[in-house]
Amino acid sequence: MKNLVILGSTGSIGVNALDIVAAHPDKYRVVALTAGNNIDLLHEQIRAFRPEIVAVLSESQAKELRRRLGPQGPEVLSGVQGLVACATHGNADMVVSAIVGAAGLVPTMAAIEAGKDIALANKETLVCAGSLVMSRALEKEVRIFPVDSEHSAIFQSLEGHRKHDVRRLILTASGGPFCNRSLAELSHVTPGDALNHPNWEMGRKITIDSATMMNKGLEVIEAHWLFDLPAERLDVHIHPQSIVHSMVEYIDGSVIAQMGVPDMRTPIAYALSYPERLPLKIPALDLCELGTLTFEKPDTQKFSCLKLAYDALREGGSAPAVLNAANEVAVEAFLNGGISFLNISRIIASVLELPREDEIEHIDDVLRVDRWARTRARRVISEIS
Ligand code: NAD
Ligand code: MG
Repeated sequence: MKNLVILGSTGSIGVNALDIVAAHPDKYRVVALTAGNNIDLLHEQIRAFRPEIVAVLSESQAKELRRRLGPQGPEVLSGVQGLVACATHGNADMVVSAIVGAAGLVPTMAAIEAGKDIALANKETLVCAGSLVMSRALEKEVRIFPVDSEHSAIFQSLEGHRKHDVRRLILTASGGPFCNRSLAELSHVTPGDALNHPNWEMGRKITIDSATMMNKGLEVIEAHWLFDLPAERLDVHIHPQSIVHSMVEYIDGSVIAQMGVPDMRTPIAYALSYPERLPLKIPALDLCELGTLTFEKPDTQKFSCLKLAYDALREGGSAPAVLNAANEVAVEAFLNGGISFLNISRIIASVLELPREDEIEHIDDVLRVDRWARTRARRVISEIS
């Protein structure tokens, strides 16, 4: 029996993780759940999975939840302290890190400090603090299992091989909803158009990141930290069918790929059950039915966010944390109708050009840079609108 904490249980990844737990009650038990919003769904999840402790964002949400649950309910906490209490719960074996954005950093780091293995969906944590997270995980002998489908594919394709035999990693990208639109057409796309992802059902932020291809940029940085390879050995191929989830090329010319129908339960389950595989009710991949798989190079002029992410990775220091924070602010502004789609990358580029503090030695440095970049991004937005 593995005891799980699910950070971000009401999100797309959280719900899929609980779906796996529900299908395998003999293998997994939920000891803590956290949610940023959607108290109704959290309430249902508490009734179904009976965690010992839960956390929500605000104390007013916590009060409402306590009222609904009555005296028999679990302990209900709030704020960052609540998240950290859940992430470090004494009975937990593994923490599923599925909060969206840099908000996942503090609880994920707390879980590592407490020696919990991590099933990592929250890529922003590695983007803004990859060096600190990976070094603490190593010191604490904590394993970080990737949930992101590309990184799970690479992790699976590396199994049984030696790291020094790897030539490069090839991350696949669906190309999102705007793969076939011209740069000129992108100037008037709406949040509604961008939220209409062809292959994956995901949270709103990552869906916009997929449309700008910042998601792939964040994933390149995530791959750098997880698999310890430089930007030059991390490639991206557009593969609109989302069947090949990523590949590893070896020095002898062999390329090993992991394939499957696009369903996040496969990588989530592998992170939970490694090295075993869980039976899942997922339709079989029918390559004959599909007939054709295609691949092409990404257009970094059209998808300039991808280039910004590569540049930030090469630059290092605080650049990836700034990239991430400015992106979070810009995406939110786009979703609220405050800026155009193409302004997302312009805002990020403007913030990255400003002189800034570059020393990242402690988590507080990351949090300070994150706050600084958010303030600057908001200022750029108010200047252009
Ligand atoms: P989502 O928006 O559907 O869910 C996010 C969860 O985090 C929710 O439970 C929400 O209540 C909670 N949350 C949001 N802001 C919070 C805050 N400030 N403090 C505490 N909790 C907060 O997002 P998602 O699509 O499930 O993605 C979660 C993470 O997984 C992201 O980092 C994303 O990049 C990554 N990821 C998602 C997918 C996918 O298929 N959805 C695939 C790969 C990676
Ligand atoms: Mg992914």
